[in-house]
Amino acid sequence: MRGTLRRTRMKDWFEVIRETCPICHKSGGCLLHSDGNRVVCIRVESKTVFSKKMTSWLHYLKEPVKVSKDVEDYIPDSPKAPIEQLNAVYGAMLENTSLQDNHYDHLNGEKRAMQDSEIKLREYRSFPTKAWNTVKAMQHHVDSDAFNGTPGLFTNKFGWTIAGAPGILIPYRNEKNQVIGFQIRVDNPGLKTVLEGTFKDRVTAEIIEKPNKVQVKINGEVFEEKYLSAGERIDIMTNGNYGSVSLKKGQRYFWLSSANKENGTGAGNPLPVHIAVPVSQLKQWEVGEVHQAESVWITEGALKADIAVEHMERLYKSGQIQDLEKTPTFIGLPGVATWFNVLEVLKGMNTKMVTLAYDMDMLSNHDVLRAMKDFMVHLKGEGYKVRMAMWNEQDGKGIDDMFLNSKFPQVKEF
Ligand SMILES: [Zn+2]
Repeated sequence: MRGTLRRTRMKDWFEVIRETCPICHKSGGCLLHSDGNRVVCIRVESKTVFSKKMTSWLHYLKEPVKVSKDVEDYIPDSPKAPIEQLNAVYGAMLENTSLQDNHYDHLNGEKRAMQDSEIKLREYRSFPTKAWNTVKAMQHHVDSDAFNGTPGLFTNKFGWTIAGAPGILIPYRNEKNQVIGFQIRVDNPGLKTVLEGTFKDRVTAEIIEKPNKVQVKINGEVFEEKYLSAGERIDIMTNGNYGSVSLKKGQRYFWLSSANKENGTGAGNPLPVHIAVPVSQLKQWEVGEVHQAESVWITEGALKADIAVEHMERLYKSGQIQDLEKTPTFIGLPGVATWFNVLEVLKGMNTKMVTLAYDMDMLSNHDVLRAMKDFMVHLKGEGYKVRMAMWNEQDGKGIDDMFLNSKFPQVKEF
């Protein structure tokens, strides 16, 4: 059944999926209690940390909300398989998929400017058009039993297949050069609704027909339905509600995940952290060998880390940036707030110095700044040397863009 809430593994807690969280007004991830009087929000902080591992906070609502009766069943995730197994299944996937020309051109083109050797050695792929055939071919490399617990793999009535959408598959490699997950950069990010304003009642907006038919509800009652074009809005001006709904481009990057599918597995617990080294090193890096890096740079996302580390190697060699060593290592975090599971990785790599290189536009975001400060304080406390890379936002949003514009960052120690 398609619902607005979904049961979770915790009794009495529902995930808010097709309406918006009363605290952050976004959809997906936040939890509502069946009493309707409290919320666990994954985006807005409160005094009470609900879960540190999943970064979420408990909020009591001044006025309880009505809990929808459209509750989807919880399909339990299979526990994620051990790393060796993930690496074997994903290795078989890499063997049996290829990179389409349009995706190659995207990586090789002006915007990313990756060399042919980078694109090949880093093993970017296109999400397969006939996933069930890919899975069949994978079974020449691994037993289908190994598909259990692999994010992305699930079963339908015909057998095993892969969940996802057309786009570029970006491998996440751990500190032992094992492939532990993928992100998909989708070709068509679609649209999503944006609700802005102050509301007395519970206002929700969702796309009920792709790509652009929007339905607005107030307290569960349909207020308006309309095909919205770009720049157009639905105004909501009724007793005590002042705001509007518009459409904006949806998310571009997704985890390869089969959460909420039969025999499926989510990408998280924990989300993959990507270790990027220049291809000159990647070439020689044996699977299983723990990478050592006295100094690491940290950004968000694997693709950005891959691009940045190549440029950084050139700057190190020319002496334009001083560091502890000659070849750089970049870490691509799964998200700016999810730094927690990088700590083990740093220990394993015997890291002494950490340089944060987050997107410059993120530094105006309150939530990002707080997460970054927590991370820095924590690192300092553990005895790391901590630095921050800064550059002019006009020279590029991310560190990859900045390098592509032939600039380099200022590095400040904290
Ligand atoms: Zn929320």
